[in-house]
Amino acid sequence: MNVALQEAPLVRPPQIAPIKEAPTTLMNALTIDLEEWFHVTNFEGVIKRREWPGLETRVQETMPRLLDVLDEFNTKATFFTLGWVAREFPWIIKRLEASGHEIASHGDEHKLLVNQTPKQFRDQLVRSRDVLEQLAQQPVVGHRAPSYSLRWSTRWAVDIMIEEGFLYDSSVFPFGPRKESRLCSSRVPCMLDVQGLGSLTEYPLSIEKVYGVDLPIAGGGYFRFLPLNLIKQGIKQINERGQRYIMYLHPWEIDPDQPRVHKASWLAKFRHYHQLHKTEDKLRELLSEFQFGSIRDIFWSEEKQKYLTHAQN
Ligand SMILES: [Zn+2]
Repeated sequence: MNVALQEAPLVRPPQIAPIKEAPTTLMNALTIDLEEWFHVTNFEGVIKRREWPGLETRVQETMPRLLDVLDEFNTKATFFTLGWVAREFPWIIKRLEASGHEIASHGDEHKLLVNQTPKQFRDQLVRSRDVLEQLAQQPVVGHRAPSYSLRWSTRWAVDIMIEEGFLYDSSVFPFGPRKESRLCSSRVPCMLDVQGLGSLTEYPLSIEKVYGVDLPIAGGGYFRFLPLNLIKQGIKQINERGQRYIMYLHPWEIDPDQPRVHKASWLAKFRHYHQLHKTEDKLRELLSEFQFGSIRDIFWSEEKQKYLTHAQN
């Protein structure tokens, strides 16, 4: 036997290519702020609201493309939608509904909380919720303030959201000038309790320390600016702790052909247009390596009938 073995021709083990790391099974939250390129706070100083009706709309082109990408990876998302978009393009809301996405409110006309009175905020919130619910067959119970403008000075908005029946909010981005929100000091979901009224679950956008530096890996412009490897490393770290990465994007971020606002400042243009042509490919790569779903998919508890601070899926 031994001899026979010794005489057997030497067979080298085949060269095995390194196995690509299996995608993590934890589901992360993908959120889309559904608005037009001209709604952004970044251009507020140079595009007047009264000019909006005359501007070229792009969501008819970008939304089907974005939804096709999500379908390709069988991914659902939460769409924080402006009431303005729902009134102009009802078919988009119906398609979101038919595709199983979660529909939530991004306010009605993209007004920052810091620029509104409590009454104006309530009117905008209810107006957006009403038009979305008229078009979709799902209750609208989530909200995201334009430009993450929920902070300590606008905490009255939490009372109003609870009074109007909203169950969760995702308007805290604890990075840069928004860091001092004090509403949700942690980087993980928390409950915002209001005595005598109830509570609202807050889902802050993801910040993660990667190689010793705090990085706003949550998305948007940062998703376009930061190398994808750093973002992936951050997501892995978050998932390794058993937590969920919460990400955001806008339809205009996959639209390199959108009209240019020449009169905007150099910095505003850089923020808005930098690497638009790369966003779709980066998103595809992320969706191929990580699991994503809507906030509802991850945090809604059917049993408890509430949005939890810890994941259900
Ligand atoms: Zn927005």
